Amino acid sequence: MRAGLWWMGLWLYGGVLAAASAQPVDPVVMTVLGPVPAAQLGLALTHEHVLVDWIGAEQSGPHRWDRDAVARRVRPHLDRARELGVQAFVDCSPAHLGRDPQLLRLLSRQTGLHVVTNTGLYAARGGRHVPEAAKQMPPAQLAAGWVTEWRDGIDGTDVRPGFIKIGVNGQRKTDDTDACHDATGRFFALNALDRRVVAAAAIAHRDTGLTVASHTANADPVEQMAIFAAHGVAPDALVWVHAQRRPVEDAVELARQGLWISYDNVAKPRVGDYLQRLAAMKQAELLHRVLLSHDSGWYTAGEPNGGDRVRGYDALLTDLIPAIQARGVLTDDELHQVLVDNPAQAFAVRPRLLAESP
Ligand SMILES: [Zn+2]
Repeated sequence: MRAGLWWMGLWLYGGVLAAASAQPVDPVVMTVLGPVPAAQLGLALTHEHVLVDWIGAEQSGPHRWDRDAVARRVRPHLDRARELGVQAFVDCSPAHLGRDPQLLRLLSRQTGLHVVTNTGLYAARGGRHVPEAAKQMPPAQLAAGWVTEWRDGIDGTDVRPGFIKIGVNGQRKTDDTDACHDATGRFFALNALDRRVVAAAAIAHRDTGLTVASHTANADPVEQMAIFAAHGVAPDALVWVHAQRRPVEDAVELARQGLWISYDNVAKPRVGDYLQRLAAMKQAELLHRVLLSHDSGWYTAGEPNGGDRVRGYDALLTDLIPAIQARGVLTDDELHQVLVDNPAQAFAVRPRLLAESP
């Protein structure tokens, strides 16, 4: 009898301890309207744009576009995506390249989409989107500016970033942003500015828990992972943007190490390529690392009514998914994983540190 009570007491005490330590803190994704539980993010497009401004960091700014005109042109595409089942939209236009938190907040309110914007710095395209004052800044100073945006809001607003967007250029001298490797098929090594920006992203990740999405046109994702590791940050804090520019074997190898693979240029003519990549990732049991999106939008500042590069955000829903289902490439559960679970997991705000990190 006494022994039974003793065990019951221990059992009750254990229950109290478990309740105290479990205190579940549901992870959130930070949208332009505030935090959303990651589990409620829904079907997400993880790499899109509303607006871009290519003029360069020193000249770019909201004086270059009319928010209402941009919203009028882009909103029908967002509404269409919403009708097709999209619930969340990650805007990847970086600072000094068309990022406009007020525009995104306006469109989020108009469309009902969860919209996510970013902090960070885009050092691709020869560094022309990096302000002169930032070009020689040490990583800690760059990171401090991004952490301030996370804490206080962007550009005098209270809109907070939901991830860190960086771009790296590599040591290639030309402006060719599409070549992803040299003649031997190797990645390009990072240049000095790239390395500072990547290090800053790792530092800012430690302070904020924000995921880092790196536009990696022709530069080495392995080197970026190594810089993250040197700062104690795990590979799953990093999204390899535009991974479709490299053979799927590279994605398999790096996803195995924990990197997020962003296949973000879905369009009707490329459906076959995406089917093959998805099948290969499934075969390798790596679907849990894959993100899909269009890299669409592209209202271009300085061009009449945004120019002629504005594309919709629908091919994933109208072309790729039906092809996936028709050919049985992925089950419905696997599709849900890629389109809903993975974005929530990838963009949930939480530090991802290596176990042995300092
Ligand atoms: Zn993009």
